Amino acid sequence: MRVAIVGGGISGLSCAYYLRRAGIGAIVFDPAPGGPMGTETVEGCLLETGPESWLAAKPWAEQLIRDLGMGDDLVGSNDAQRRTYVLRQGRFIVLPEGLQMVVPTRVMPVVETPLFGWGTKLRMGAEIFRSPKTLPDRSVADFVRDHFGQEAVEYLAEPLLAGVYGGSPEDLSVASVLPRFFEYEQRYGSVVVGALRNKPPSSGRSIFRALRRGMGSLIDALAAETNIVRGRADSIAPAGNGGWMIYARDEWIPFDAVVLACGANNSAPLLAPIDARSAELLASIPHSGSSIWTFIYQRSQVNRALDGFGFLVPSRERTAIMACTWIGTKWVGRVPEDKAVFRCFSTNANVSRDSVEAELTRLMNITGPPLAALNHRWPDSMPQYTVGHMGRIAELESRMARIPGLFLAGNAYHGIGIPDCVKSGKDAAGAIEKLVAA
Ligand SMILES: Cc1cc2nc3c(=O)[nH]c(=O)nc-3n(C[C@H](O)[C@H](O)[C@H](O)COP(=O)(O)OP(=O)(O)OC[C@H]3O[C@@H](n4cnc5c(N)ncnc54)[C@H](O)[C@@H]3O)c2cc1C
Repeated sequence: MRVAIVGGGISGLSCAYYLRRAGIGAIVFDPAPGGPMGTETVEGCLLETGPESWLAAKPWAEQLIRDLGMGDDLVGSNDAQRRTYVLRQGRFIVLPEGLQMVVPTRVMPVVETPLFGWGTKLRMGAEIFRSPKTLPDRSVADFVRDHFGQEAVEYLAEPLLAGVYGGSPEDLSVASVLPRFFEYEQRYGSVVVGALRNKPPSSGRSIFRALRRGMGSLIDALAAETNIVRGRADSIAPAGNGGWMIYARDEWIPFDAVVLACGANNSAPLLAPIDARSAELLASIPHSGSSIWTFIYQRSQVNRALDGFGFLVPSRERTAIMACTWIGTKWVGRVPEDKAVFRCFSTNANVSRDSVEAELTRLMNITGPPLAALNHRWPDSMPQYTVGHMGRIAELESRMARIPGLFLAGNAYHGIGIPDCVKSGKDAAGAIEKLVAA
């Protein structure tokens, strides 16, 4: 069995890795493997070019890292300092404790927070009296508005989801993005009651996980075990024998199976000559871009305590920065004591340095220019799970199941986070193993 994997981001490389463990050879095509994942060291600071961590609650990334023999490199976020600020009318306000994403589960922090007015606080309290209801998929904004009111959309859902999905809660699907709470609404009526009844026992572990030497070390370890052709796959066509041909580097190369792990947007044109409807479904998934500006300062230039993981800026208050992480506080050992590092995330891939730097300087009360400023732009990198996403993916997957030897993996289908991507690659490898066994 010869397998081609188009796209060598974390999804494609995970697929290649698990195929290899099953004794199945694969070739990965990618002009720039790793996608947004990479690590640089500047001024003694460990910096990520794209993702910096993943949610510990999802096991697949950690399992891959242990399978690779890198378990000792796993590190947790510095949760003793876990505190996130939200900007409201130019002031930093701490996100109340006890939030499960957009759902409050503790009374006093909500009562005491200046983030919400009394109207929202009363709605949050009264939400526990809702009766179970089965409602169709709708936008996260409609869902949160219905349960907690407009202020919770603007100062909770919008900034929290914008940082993860790079999209607006008015467009994102609650069934895809907050599936647990969507289910609680049907089971309990109240999502607060659902969250309280299903609260996981505290594991004592940190909420975010990362790698001591950065995400680049994971990509390097996977790439070292993978046969990578550094080039694009330009076309795919059926071969006469039931297999597939890939056109890359000016030649047609035969394979028995192909995994498209190059993003839904890049997979659509490759799939169009094979199944037009699947290509249409792929192309209908919008993608937003993102930009990360990282600024390094002497700690003495920053005239504010770095007593938290960073801050979120709701769209009402936003100029250039959507979210900013204080790397030296969130991660122990990444930033020397005398330095401060700010990782500023924006969904405008072309956001200018001047606008980000000016806003950061003002908000953090910084004097003088940075020691270094780095930018990594990722246009069209974040698929948007818009309302109806799950229905469209179900149709796509039922069509793909009828095309033997052709598979999809990646961040556009069942989760955008790194653990979800690893799982999608592993699942595609599992499907190919079954094909071999049949
Ligand atoms: C700035 C940023 C920050 C993020 N932060 C986090 C985070 O902190 N935690 C988290 O869990 N997730 C985070 N994410 C999400 C997560 O990183 C991505 O969803 C994940 O890396 C996507 O992996 P992938 O392999 O599916 O796709 P990609 O990494 O996009 O890989 C697709 C690959 O396909 C290649 N390709 C495209 N077309 C072709 C072609 N025709 N032929 C060959 N190759 C092709 C591309 O070069 C690319 O390398 C972040 C994403 C971004 C952009």
